[in-house]
Amino acid sequence: MIANDFVYCKPGNRREAVKAYRALSKEDKKVFYYNGGSEIITMARAGSNAPDAVIDLKGIKECNKLELEEDYLVIGGAVSLNTIEESGLFPLLGTTGSRIADHTNQCRITLGGNISGTIIYKETVLPLLLTDAKIILYGPRGFRRLQFKNAFDQRIKLRDGEFIYQVKIKKEMLSLPFTHVKKTAIEKIDYPLVTVCSISYGNYLRFAFSGLCSFPFRSVEIEKILNDSQLSAEERLEKTHGLLPEPPVTDYQGTGEYRLFVFDNIIKAILERRNNEVL
Ligand SMILES: Cc1cc2nc3c(=O)[nH]c(=O)nc-3n(C[C@H](O)[C@H](O)[C@H](O)COP(=O)(O)OP(=O)(O)OC[C@H]3O[C@@H](n4cnc5c(N)ncnc54)[C@H](O)[C@@H]3O)c2cc1C
Repeated sequence: MIANDFVYCKPGNRREAVKAYRALSKEDKKVFYYNGGSEIITMARAGSNAPDAVIDLKGIKECNKLELEEDYLVIGGAVSLNTIEESGLFPLLGTTGSRIADHTNQCRITLGGNISGTIIYKETVLPLLLTDAKIILYGPRGFRRLQFKNAFDQRIKLRDGEFIYQVKIKKEMLSLPFTHVKKTAIEKIDYPLVTVCSISYGNYLRFAFSGLCSFPFRSVEIEKILNDSQLSAEERLEKTHGLLPEPPVTDYQGTGEYRLFVFDNIIKAILERRNNEVL
């Protein structure tokens, strides 16, 4: 429940959504696009960031789309994590979503909301970075169609009034062999200490990470080192530590040092399994 008065609107199409955003913003209101509401309501309850107005995107048909088209899987920004998992269409994203929060919340939390939220983890970003996904944004100046990796740098780069309309993933990327490992401090359902997603593309491993640093990321430089079979696993890990985009996070769940230890163990297990598969 949001305790303060606020405007709620549920437009039926994208143009109305942007029109509402502009009109409400002009009235100097704090306006949020609203999808699952899990974060907006939590923050409003805590009194940290209560909206004056929310624009619910779930009324827009295209934002609820989950469909295989000729070459792509299309996922609307308002599709829930649970719907993605149950569809079985993108197993890596389904698995990643199935380890975010509990089942009840997975039925509410949406892809667009997880990508755009304020928490640092945004785990659904990892499969999108690994599979060369595209993102379609819609805002006052119409559509922008971007490579996901160009739209997401530490956070999603939205222009004022823009929202996540859809994400598209090439069909051939959907069923690549993958590994998903999420390690938490104590409970299985919790924010990650470290989450690693990896896919095997050709004979090359791609990696993306959440929890380790204060934003989710994929690093091509780290992948080069981790795929270098001339180096031992220990050498690869040591070099990797020097390539992290920032020092590992220290918080109530674990120190940066401990996170790095967890990260090393996950990577070692992935590399060892790969060696065994080659043998
Ligand atoms: C119990 C619990 C545990 C959780 N654990 C994890 C975890 O371990 N890992 C993890 O990654 N996440 C986790 N989450 C999810 C995360 O914290 C957010 O609550 C969730 O991602 C928000 O999704 P939502 O659809 O509810 O977004 P909303 O609450 O509707 O919106 C969140 C933010 O995104 C913006 N937004 C929403 N949709 C769009 C859009 N289409 N375009 C542009 N902006 C948009 C909103 O304006 C708002 O600022 C957890 C959540 C809960 C409730």
